[in-house]
Amino acid sequence: MKFGGIDEKEIIERIRELKEKLGDELVILGHHYQRRGIVELSHFRGDSFQLSRQAASQRKAKYIVFCGVRFMAESAAILAAPHQIVQHPEPTAGCPMSDMADPWDVEEAWRQITEICGDDVIPITYVNSSAEVKAFCGRHGGATCTSSNAQKLIEWGFSQKSRVFFLPDRHLGTNAANKLGIPRDKRVIWDFTQPELGGNTEEQIYNSKLILWNGYCHVHTFFKPEHVYEARRRFPGCTVVVHPECFEEVVDLADHDGSTAFMVRFVEEAPKGSTIVIGTEINLVSRLAYEHPDKKVVELARSLCPNMYKITLLSLLRTLENIGELNVVELPDEVKHYAKIALDKMLEVASK
Ligand code: SF4
Repeated sequence: MKFGGIDEKEIIERIRELKEKLGDELVILGHHYQRRGIVELSHFRGDSFQLSRQAASQRKAKYIVFCGVRFMAESAAILAAPHQIVQHPEPTAGCPMSDMADPWDVEEAWRQITEICGDDVIPITYVNSSAEVKAFCGRHGGATCTSSNAQKLIEWGFSQKSRVFFLPDRHLGTNAANKLGIPRDKRVIWDFTQPELGGNTEEQIYNSKLILWNGYCHVHTFFKPEHVYEARRRFPGCTVVVHPECFEEVVDLADHDGSTAFMVRFVEEAPKGSTIVIGTEINLVSRLAYEHPDKKVVELARSLCPNMYKITLLSLLRTLENIGELNVVELPDEVKHYAKIALDKMLEVASK
């Protein structure tokens, strides 16, 4: 196969040479949803937050190349030391869910909510959000969360204030709320396309405990209950594991739900011969199937994240050829400062 007129084998060869030449000065991070070739050439693989922490602990590395979507590279830049340069091989690789929480819309929603509730509300954002939205949370005493600690962070939020304003993934928030037993009549959805109060009344906002931004991941909301019924019919005795970004109806029908790191561990630890049906991005499911031939690992349905897929071997090569210069992730110091406060708060709460 050829990319930009260069043979794939040659691209891989050149990437290997540049890795060798840069040695400890370079760390390539590959998200679980990246295509196999990228993951194989990465120094570390993992979910977004694992990778950012991994990068931050590699103090020898001067250059961090993040193969994932933009908010992930931004998180690495927030956590990086001053001497480290973070590069994102494909700047157009954004995350639609993160983009659904536009910082201006979030500030405007906050203005409207606090006019009703005063300061008795705290913002918590999923790490799948822009650096500006993370900074917004840090500035207002809030925190970030991951898909594995969302419940814990929401509980912490309630120890601080009566209401939690949760961004940007409505489904992660809903699934966490179900586990925490937050009554449905105490939850409101903030529809950011509505001009006033996210489509709610003042009374609804005032009486709520959880205000959920109406964002979603199109990769995970692709999975429907019919897919789970069909999987159980085709693979009797299988275990169905899905991501908490899925609809609550899908999570309810599954045997387990958890982060990508949880799914990887689940497959690794499953007994030989077991059948595991996974509801997440297809690149991860295919790689797990490839790496665990002693188990049957099957996708709940084929759902691909086209933005993750924008990172190619050629864009990785171009980045390495222009190390320290091309597609450098730059954020204002103020944004980095407050976004780090939100990330640090999450680490503090999650470690308790
Ligand atoms: S899988 Fe979903 S949340 Fe993750 S980057 Fe793609 S669109 Fe965003």
